[in-house]
Amino acid sequence: QAAKAKELRGQPGCLKDGTTIPLLANVGKPEDADAALEYGAEGVGLFRTEFLFIGNEEPPTVDEQTEAYTRLLSRFPGRKVVIRMLDAGADKPLPFLTPEDEPNPALGLRGLRTLRTHMQVLEDQLEALARADSRTQADLWVMAPMVADEHEADYFVRLGKSKGLRRVGAMAEVPSIALMADKVARVADFVSIGTNDLTQYTMAADRTLGSVSNYQTAWHPAVLRAIKLIADAGNANGMPVGVCGEAAADPDLAVVLAGLGVNSLSMTPVALDDVRAELRSHTLQEARDIAARALDGEFYHPAW
Ligand code: PEP
Ligand code: MG
Repeated sequence: QAAKAKELRGQPGCLKDGTTIPLLANVGKPEDADAALEYGAEGVGLFRTEFLFIGNEEPPTVDEQTEAYTRLLSRFPGRKVVIRMLDAGADKPLPFLTPEDEPNPALGLRGLRTLRTHMQVLEDQLEALARADSRTQADLWVMAPMVADEHEADYFVRLGKSKGLRRVGAMAEVPSIALMADKVARVADFVSIGTNDLTQYTMAADRTLGSVSNYQTAWHPAVLRAIKLIADAGNANGMPVGVCGEAAADPDLAVVLAGLGVNSLSMTPVALDDVRAELRSHTLQEARDIAARALDGEFYHPAW
């Protein structure tokens, strides 16, 4: 079966009836781009930029960042590459940007919240992205992590566009943005659902804490209902909605996500073969039926 899944490499992601679901790669360091291409990713759905900042005493310069983004983008000419703005804070602390004395860092300054308290870092990163974009042929999409609602989405989209970026969107990682999805869809070019954090915050269970790891599953119907709110709002307003959290790498869950109306899936490159093969064995109607059962809780089994 694995060999068969491998044979489909190079084929686009789609359902049995031909409904396209582009399959993209999560890239956390430059070498992951090799794996993305090797496993037949159609582009990059999540480029985590933290590696440029971690282990340094200060943020990288605009020139250093421009070079790194140019290197990545130049490997994907004509293809979609979604770059995420720095996600500092919580499980990704950075000494020069994030406070050390927060009692609940996951509920503190992180993602866009951190960037807004360091405007120079925010503007430098956008500037570097715009420069790299102008030097390369990839289809660059830029998104901010940890966006709370339509106001923050609007703020970030306007700022990104003022720097010359064309496609600017928000990650959906917090229940508040899912509940406001109809309004977000009017201001953002796209939304990418980060199911790792969306699960953590929906279930109020720290994703790094083993004692509550039972709660960290996107199979929980509460998480799926949050995803549905976002997918419905996107489809009603012509706004693309992707998933870039771990959930997209589970072949059965990928079918559910497609059935909920998610338009693209991004995952660790090694997961691409199995997800591609599984999606091709269900029609859109079948995926919708499976999604309806998942929303009803049929596939969620409480461990406690
Ligand atoms: C997520 O939260 O699902 C996500 C993709 O971002 P990260 O895991 O980097 O927080
Ligand atoms: Mg996240």
